[in-house]
Amino acid sequence: MLQFHAAAITAFCACTVQSVFARSKSTSSSKGAGTIRVVQRALERPIESKRRETGALLESIRQTEPFARFRKADNLDPFPPRSAVPRYDLHCHSTHSDGLLTPAAVVARAAARGVDFLALTDHDELSGLAEARCAASEAGIELVCGAELSVSWNDNTLHVVALGIDPENPRLIEGLDAIRIGRSARARRIGDALAAAGIEGAYEGAMKYVTSERLVSRTHFARYLVEAGYARETKDVFKRYLTRGNPGYVAHPWATLSQAVGWIHAAGGQAVIAHPGRYKINATGMRGLLAEFRDIGGDAIEVLSPSHTSAQYTEFATYSRVFELRGSCGSDWHGPGESWMDFGDLPEMPTGVVPVWKDW
Ligand SMILES: [Zn+2]
Ligand SMILES: [Zn+2]
Repeated sequence: MLQFHAAAITAFCACTVQSVFARSKSTSSSKGAGTIRVVQRALERPIESKRRETGALLESIRQTEPFARFRKADNLDPFPPRSAVPRYDLHCHSTHSDGLLTPAAVVARAAARGVDFLALTDHDELSGLAEARCAASEAGIELVCGAELSVSWNDNTLHVVALGIDPENPRLIEGLDAIRIGRSARARRIGDALAAAGIEGAYEGAMKYVTSERLVSRTHFARYLVEAGYARETKDVFKRYLTRGNPGYVAHPWATLSQAVGWIHAAGGQAVIAHPGRYKINATGMRGLLAEFRDIGGDAIEVLSPSHTSAQYTEFATYSRVFELRGSCGSDWHGPGESWMDFGDLPEMPTGVVPVWKDW
């Protein structure tokens, strides 16, 4: 893995092009969202040698261990023709949190599947963005700097995606540092809770899947429990072991909603409620959440997410209009064979929803 990681960086980070995007500090649009200013469009269509180089990288992804069992056979063109209407994917993960591929490999895959604007949104983590930015320049697509923040709200854990942030912003960095410290303690407690339920060695097992020493998540436990035969898929592990009411669930205080929104805005970004349909919140609770989020300056909700049914696309499109929150979309992609929806698979944003990228 490390060897591959180094190769990926060598392949992608020789670029000298600055970030294709930087967020304007002097923003003026509604609700503090601001606009993203194009500093420099990505380079001209890459030449044939770049195509070969990226093709080799995609092949090396397919060979990457220890994730062989997550591999899916595919044969992607690294530089497909771009569609007339830009395609956005504003939520995905790399090895800098709980994704299976390095940031460069994630960007290469998204580009190969026709994404034009990609946000890398690792959990509580910004360290993958530099590599992703270089890779995006090389691949000829636009990288939107992002993160996915863990938030506690009324006994629920929510995720808030940050889009268009300045990764150097000290307030955001400090906030994320505090959240990550909490994650390590929580991982130990999850291991203890699972051991108490008769599943020994889960903490050590989860550690085998950790790809960044800075971050351990429930997904790492889920992968180990699949390996150990407790479930066939990671989503079943969450359902049976890691969510509230199940043996490996531990409550944990994350950031508050207003802290998360405050940090994101301080870093010049937009705050987006991730996959709202996934939370165990009834309709009254959802209206309360969205009203509170709007009132503290939240910017958008994910309307399109693989966590949503098509009926929920319509439901959250309506919420987006009613609460005057913009609509976002993201595959929440974690790795080949693990995420049922891939880059480029999401449908068009429903009509009437103001997209989160309107002022970019
Ligand atoms: Zn999430
Ligand atoms: Zn996510």
